[in-house]
Amino acid sequence: MHVPAARVVFSDDDRARILELVDESLRSGSLTLGPHGEAFESAFAERHQVPYAVAVSSGTSALEIMFRALNLGGREVIVPANTFFASAAAVIHAGGRPRLADVSAATLALSAESVEAALTPQVAAVLLVHIGGLVTPEVDAIRRLCDERGVLLIEDAAHAHGATFDGRPAGTFGHAAAFSFYPTKVVASAEGGMIVTSDQALYDDARIYRDQGKDGFLGGSHVRLGYAWRMSEVHAAVGLVHLGRLDEFIATRRRVAARYREALAGAAGITPLPEPPGVVSNIYKFPALLDPGVDRTGFKSRLRAEHDLVCSGEVYARPLHHEPIFSQIDTAPGAGALRVAEDVCARQVCLPVHSDMTDEEADHVAGSVLEVAAGAVAAT
Ligand SMILES: *Cc1c(COP(=O)(O)O)cnc(C)c1O
Repeated sequence: MHVPAARVVFSDDDRARILELVDESLRSGSLTLGPHGEAFESAFAERHQVPYAVAVSSGTSALEIMFRALNLGGREVIVPANTFFASAAAVIHAGGRPRLADVSAATLALSAESVEAALTPQVAAVLLVHIGGLVTPEVDAIRRLCDERGVLLIEDAAHAHGATFDGRPAGTFGHAAAFSFYPTKVVASAEGGMIVTSDQALYDDARIYRDQGKDGFLGGSHVRLGYAWRMSEVHAAVGLVHLGRLDEFIATRRRVAARYREALAGAAGITPLPEPPGVVSNIYKFPALLDPGVDRTGFKSRLRAEHDLVCSGEVYARPLHHEPIFSQIDTAPGAGALRVAEDVCARQVCLPVHSDMTDEEADHVAGSVLEVAAGAVAAT
């Protein structure tokens, strides 16, 4: 049985509905910043219990717009060392300086302890990344620390559509949050992103930034250094229809995760990242840590060769300061050698999870992983 790393799921009904919506756009000539985008924004805001949402061209542009709206002006943003390139690059593009902080091995996210050590008067914001769709239970403590120091908490929720902690959705814990609709994400629009916030001034600013810094769609003056960050109506149609499936996608992904957890409980050589009490991950990823000494490359190639099974990409396989472009990036006070990030990046694998995965596929994955991990332990 072949199990791919990821599968993009659009049902027959959803594809038909998307084509209808695209046809409406083509007939009306309303191809960008139109009714589909507005419907997507309203539906997304409602689903995530936030007052405002702004649809943009990508998750990366959502991040950059939020940071531009903060007027960083050379100030610092605390970023976890194990995140996607764009989390730190957006800070630089927006005129800020990213500083890498270490993370918790239990959640792969910034810990309150690492944030507390990192907060200096130069820090304008902390970027909390909900790695794999898991919102850290330390999020309230992190928010409190930020509030005490007059620092803004910003969420990179690119992984976390519909994920919750304590019943509250990702996107509601900070000042603003960025989501991505890249094809592999739990909701896709082909390309696209969304900013959510409860701050009306930030909402107004984001709408200006996404459309060349103009203070009105039809005409207006250029009042900000914006960019071509609009979401087209075609992309909005795809995202709007896909968002309608979010709850069933999460239910399927959680069913798969529960099967994985049951099968891998007590397994030799591999330990799934647990879901802390109160946390409901959307299971964008199912990360697990290999025992120290187990060779990850060998583990993954045996899964592929012997079980026709491809692991999903790690989150992340190496921390940001290992990327050549970030070799000179600053670490935050207290971050030391980013020991935890180094370790969890080096030992992590992510089992494949699809929004339409069958129990048979999940059992094949779990059985194969058990066998290969046990073999890897025997070889160490
Ligand atoms: C995907 C992703 C982004 C960027 O989103 P794009 O839509 O691909 O631009 C940003 N941050 C994280 C953590 C991501 O996974």
